[in-house]
Amino acid sequence: MRFEDFIGNAQVLRRLRDRLREARFPHGLLFGGPAGVGKHTCALMLAKALNCSESAPGDFCDSCTQCRKINAGVHADVILVQPEEDGAAIRISQIREILETLALRPLEGTHKVYIIDPADAMNDAAANALLKALEEPPEDCSFILISANPQALLVTVRSRCQTYSFAPLTLGELRSFGSDELALRWSRGSIGTLKSLDLVALRNRRDAALDFLETAVQAKEEAFADMISASADLARSKSEFEPYLNALAILMEDILYVREDSASRIVNVDLEPRLRKIAAEIPQEQFSRIADFLRTIEINLERNVNRQMLSDNLALTANATLEKIANDNPGKSR
Ligand SMILES: [Zn+2]
Repeated sequence: MRFEDFIGNAQVLRRLRDRLREARFPHGLLFGGPAGVGKHTCALMLAKALNCSESAPGDFCDSCTQCRKINAGVHADVILVQPEEDGAAIRISQIREILETLALRPLEGTHKVYIIDPADAMNDAAANALLKALEEPPEDCSFILISANPQALLVTVRSRCQTYSFAPLTLGELRSFGSDELALRWSRGSIGTLKSLDLVALRNRRDAALDFLETAVQAKEEAFADMISASADLARSKSEFEPYLNALAILMEDILYVREDSASRIVNVDLEPRLRKIAAEIPQEQFSRIADFLRTIEINLERNVNRQMLSDNLALTANATLEKIANDNPGKSR
């Protein structure tokens, strides 16, 4: 893939290519933004541009030995640092290992590039070890830190990097990668999500979430409170905890759009009549409660908390919601 073929985030790419044409490429870069919008791809393109033996500054050929080795993941000067297992931390020993190579000249290219992805997986010890390298980096090396959650990085690390924020792709941009309208909209600007989407599972999950919402709309106050805790229990026992809640949140958002006369923005275009029905029937108060509840969950999801923490949080939120409902209705006892 060449720079011209990169879809989305045109402005970020332009700024980065400007940096490539300057005499000194930054030593620390931080790519923030949601998963699946091209941060890692972009980091590899920069590594190629910094090492390509055929192209003018600011570009790469994608076919010379340097470029091909980087594409194959076997270039000695382009080093990827990631957790050794999914969900594990990047440990200090991994950072120490790369720091040992720091003072050496590039082995086969001209510029060493260390890609740390996801950078927020570094534990504090690892991040502090990296800090030293970011403070006094050798001339011919750069660190590219990638994170969907840059706020989770140490401030001292962040402040030593130039930050580039990647945005979700627009629906139009995403159309280059697929044509199913529901899949496109459900991916919310993430190429990664679009490519890994299981539409059958998605529809099942979505149906369950919609059934829940339709029942919630009909539920009396007391029953509604029970439903919320029931949904928390249901989610906790399911392996697809996050996607289920995510489905609920997206449906709720759609209902909001319908209420605000912005139906063109809804994700679940095929469900519009049912969404309209819920939007018309749901009392404002009830709606706000479900929305608050889901917002809390979404914030927790975005923070990348682990599942156990999330389910604990969810139980707490459900309890808080129950309390709130009890306070709102002091006359009623549950
Ligand atoms: Zn090349």
